[in-house]
Amino acid sequence: MDKGGCDKCLSDSSSLATTTCGHKFCVNCILYLWTRKKNVTEPCICPVDGDKMTWLRPCMLPAPEEIRSIVSLYNRFFQPKVATPDMPRKQLVVFMAQLFKVHIALLLAGTFAYAIKFS
Ligand SMILES: [Zn+2]
Ligand SMILES: [Zn+2]
Repeated sequence: MDKGGCDKCLSDSSSLATTTCGHKFCVNCILYLWTRKKNVTEPCICPVDGDKMTWLRPCMLPAPEEIRSIVSLYNRFFQPKVATPDMPRKQLVVFMAQLFKVHIALLLAGTFAYAIKFS
């Protein structure tokens, strides 16, 4: 309904996704929530209302690449209808390694953009 940005960090980046409960989060916050959990195979919990986030949908179309890849990964993991549960451990480790790499790349890109903007 409202425009506005991420419901967690309030950034108004274009890389936002809507969750099951209707809140919007940026790609950094989604990754942060996802990678900080004890069990990455369980859906994230919305930091605003505590709802389970079982799917994500990009807020903007066409969605920027970074949010699109996270959204499709996330949905593949948690969307109830898709059978995913028993991902082999090894595959999961590889997957998480990739996720962290993306996360770090995004953080670096963000820092870089910030540095350029304010230099
Ligand atoms: Zn955010
Ligand atoms: Zn919520």
